[in-house]
Amino acid sequence: MRRTPMDKWISSKISKNPLTENLSQTEVDHYQLEKLSEIIDYVKSESPFYKANLRDLPGKCLLSLDDMRQFPFTSAEDLQDRASKFICVSQSEVQRVVTLRNPGVDPKTRRLYFTADDVEQTIDFFHHGMSTIVEPGQRVLILMPGDRPDTVGDLLVRALERMDVEGIVYGFVHDPVNAIREIVRQQIDVVVGVPTNTLSLARHPESHLIGRGRIKNVLLSSDYVSPAIVREFERVWSCSVFNHYGSTEMGFGGGVECNAFCGYHMREADMYFEIVDPDSGESKGPGEPGEVVFTTFTRKAMPLIRYRTGDLSRSLPGPCPCGSKIFRRLERVRGRICDFVRLGGNHWLGIPDLDDALFGVNELIEYQSSLTCRNNETQLDVIADAGTNRKQYVLENVRQALTQAMVLKNAIEDGSISIGAVVFGAVRKPESSSSKRTILDQRS
Ligand SMILES: [Zn+2]
Repeated sequence: MRRTPMDKWISSKISKNPLTENLSQTEVDHYQLEKLSEIIDYVKSESPFYKANLRDLPGKCLLSLDDMRQFPFTSAEDLQDRASKFICVSQSEVQRVVTLRNPGVDPKTRRLYFTADDVEQTIDFFHHGMSTIVEPGQRVLILMPGDRPDTVGDLLVRALERMDVEGIVYGFVHDPVNAIREIVRQQIDVVVGVPTNTLSLARHPESHLIGRGRIKNVLLSSDYVSPAIVREFERVWSCSVFNHYGSTEMGFGGGVECNAFCGYHMREADMYFEIVDPDSGESKGPGEPGEVVFTTFTRKAMPLIRYRTGDLSRSLPGPCPCGSKIFRRLERVRGRICDFVRLGGNHWLGIPDLDDALFGVNELIEYQSSLTCRNNETQLDVIADAGTNRKQYVLENVRQALTQAMVLKNAIEDGSISIGAVVFGAVRKPESSSSKRTILDQRS
């Protein structure tokens, strides 16, 4: 099995010796400690937010990585409507601004700022991360926006150019037949996209036009990737399915799986990752689940210190079967904390629970779920979207899958929830590459 190319890339950034691929843990720790000290001093001097927030804490005095635990977290709420307090450079040095809006009617926004160097770091990561799944001479169809400079699709195209791979931006799929024909016409080898939007191709009746073996690999990003979705791509296209983990706050890229599919290999030369208890904030050890927290080492426009992602994962202990030993791996993210809603009693329900149950239903390509309160009882309503005319078949199977999903089964048994309306309908497609699906909670 081929060792992840991330190792060589990260090592070359950490070590003065470019041929070193087998760094020791001490060398990596030393590098990260030095970078953390530098960035803390930098934000304390340049960012009004951190100047106030980290006033009483040491920068250069960091003695060990564990000392990071004394630093306060940065939250998504901290960024809301006051990104300017985080900026460490002059406006003229800002190359790219990304505005993130909360779902629903909440008018609050989060802005992320990047310099040209910050953007270059993302392209560099995409370049080396993508070399896991593409080879020179291949063609990649990108089912994400990329029409404007420095959008995810555009950065990916520029990264692929560096390895003699042609990246073609298609954007989100609204017409699966058109996208399927494009894959055939352009002789596409690898598809990059958002899980359910990409699934709409594999589960379309015309999907057979793409011969088995045409697509070698699929890279899914931006949202929870259910094993049920992975199995479907493997079955229909006979390809491998890789998962990328990243967010706009991370500068779009965080980590990517290798051929062993045992967790993401993280960008350890650019970011320091921690797993913490979502409630107490206490650090979690290797193997223990918790919330992903990261600190950027090298971003200039808007570095983030101990940023709480809200994503649930864990550090995977021990070496990866691909041969990587030192650098950190995180398990596939199991959704976001805010996406889990309480049903009553000890029952919680999240998009991952629903995805795992529902995408086992043949022909389902997307769904929208909502919780309502009727006669003092919580009901789960689902709109099912399928690339088929067999509505009755899909609806019956969706209803059955819901009642059999372990979380729901237990909650139904003790009366915490019941299945309400399950209807057929078109579900809105993602609007941006950072769009994530949620359970609409309309109970209050
Ligand atoms: Zn690996």
